[in-house]
Amino acid sequence: MRRMLLSHAPIAAAVLLAATAILGLVAHRTAWAQTSAVEVLETQAIQSEAGGETRGRRRNQQNQQPASPRTAKADLERAAQDAASNFISQVEQLSFDIKLLLKLLLLFVILWMWVSATDWVNRDAQIYKLGHMKWNAIVFFPFAIVALLLVFLPLHSLIRAPIMFVVFLATWIPYVLVHNKGVEPHRTVLTGSWWRYVMASLASKVGLKVSADRKAEYEKGAPVELFAMGAEDVTTDNANLLSARNSPGYVLVKDLIVDMVRRRSERVLLDFTQQAVNVRLEIDGVWHNGEARDRESSDVMLAVMKTLANMGVKERRKKQRGQFGAKYEDHSFLCPVTSKGVATGEQVVVSLRGEQQHFDSYAALGMREGLQNQWSELMASDVGVLIFSTMPGGGLTTITNVSLEETDRLMRDFVAIEEVNHREAEIQNIEVHTFDASAGETPATLMPKLIRSYPNVYVCRDLVNIESARLLFNEVNDDRLVVTSIRAKDTAEALLRVLQMKVPAEEFVPVVKAVLYQRLIRTLCPDCKVGYTPPPDVLKKLGIPAGKVEQLFRPPKPEEIDKPCRSCQGMGYKGRTGIFELLVINDQIREILVKQPKLDLLKKAARASHQRLLQEEGIVLVAKGMTSIPELMRVLKQ
Ligand SMILES: [Zn+2]
Repeated sequence: MRRMLLSHAPIAAAVLLAATAILGLVAHRTAWAQTSAVEVLETQAIQSEAGGETRGRRRNQQNQQPASPRTAKADLERAAQDAASNFISQVEQLSFDIKLLLKLLLLFVILWMWVSATDWVNRDAQIYKLGHMKWNAIVFFPFAIVALLLVFLPLHSLIRAPIMFVVFLATWIPYVLVHNKGVEPHRTVLTGSWWRYVMASLASKVGLKVSADRKAEYEKGAPVELFAMGAEDVTTDNANLLSARNSPGYVLVKDLIVDMVRRRSERVLLDFTQQAVNVRLEIDGVWHNGEARDRESSDVMLAVMKTLANMGVKERRKKQRGQFGAKYEDHSFLCPVTSKGVATGEQVVVSLRGEQQHFDSYAALGMREGLQNQWSELMASDVGVLIFSTMPGGGLTTITNVSLEETDRLMRDFVAIEEVNHREAEIQNIEVHTFDASAGETPATLMPKLIRSYPNVYVCRDLVNIESARLLFNEVNDDRLVVTSIRAKDTAEALLRVLQMKVPAEEFVPVVKAVLYQRLIRTLCPDCKVGYTPPPDVLKKLGIPAGKVEQLFRPPKPEEIDKPCRSCQGMGYKGRTGIFELLVINDQIREILVKQPKLDLLKKAARASHQRLLQEEGIVLVAKGMTSIPELMRVLKQ
């Protein structure tokens, strides 16, 4: 239906064009034939009058051969004159043809403009729902009728053409005005930018390269697509998106996303003060100062982000949360935004969450082989409590997921207990049961049912409360394995944190089997790291035997850099890897946990059990040239 509607006007117009053109041509031909016959006769008469004598003479001369040199010269002159007069008469006829051609060309140009305009109005009026039937009639009939009338009226074509042109404009311009009122600036017609675009397009057709950039403001800049999110319904999201696109801040948000992606920044902090906006970027878990921005453009940019995230644009004091979406170079990102008023102004954090980098093995996490074997064995055990621990943002989900993926889940029944609004990534052969925290539920709510299903392994990443912890730990007595996790600074602290939940030591201590702790350390950029010979005392401090390592590595110093390394954007580091600490609970540690649960005592006992500390794991990476000493110091200080 739509296709038919879209195409019927141009066809009708084309037919009319052809008919008019043929009629016009016939009418002109008749008129021309009459005129030219008269003119040719006139020309012939003049020619015969002027040329009669010449021809007579020529005939005489032809008879008087051989001619003298003088007469031969005169003959040549006459022949030249003859040729010249012939040429002039031909040109006269030719110029007459050009006049006719010009008339037809003019007619054709006007008709072509009208046909194109009619076709465009027909399609455009349907696209923008401006009443295409009405506009088709307005643009089509007056011109068609006038054009047909003109063919039969004995008027000079110099009058015909302007009449047709005026009728064309009078019927087309009203539509253009209606169209321009209802569309975005880049879709207007007959405006300055439209003319530039038309001229540039014409120029490009004859091989000239002129920028024919006729994009909407929001389409300019980086090739990023932004999405509004967070409103109650799609209509509001769409309205938010349109309103955001109308702001000059839209392009600035796109630029911000590109900047974050290029720098591999996962978060940006915008600190709005009276004078300026200070920018800080988090890259590989480390905050770096960015270039400060001016207040005016940053305000516009922030308004766009808040609009996209359906947050209050004018609210600059209360804490707000929201998120919007972005797509860049085939990667989709979720961009959570938080804003809150502070003493100096407003602080805004924009995060960039891309598709999670998928780690599928212990090796990919950076775990050395010996530890992999040791931990795999523990994960395969039938009884006990295993604890994962990291700092906040330290990759707790990843290390837990990889461990579960690497563990055989076919021979044992795994159940996972998760909060309904905080679901983890699905892992094959693990049956997930959810509780609803908003309804006052905890893992304990699910336990009676789960106990009756006799699983082999419980995966409860967040113990939530003492009651849930006790029920789970009690299951270990029935030969079950419990896998859980907790945030802490190291293995010893992780144990203490469980006890701090007020779980009775006699219920937890006998069943806890091991704690695996992970900390993330930045790896040196392989493209710009600088090797150096370490002084013997440094090696001694690191506990590296003399002669074992000839070279250590560090990031380049600012004075050593000609231009920033493209691989790491001049950071010197690129990506992160894990360093691990595994604490297998022995009798000595159990005794401390029950009698004197203190951090230093636990650490001492851990070292005595030949546990490899984070520091030692880190030194291995330093010796391998994968990271630097300052980076290890930074990570250990956390
Ligand atoms: Zn580099």
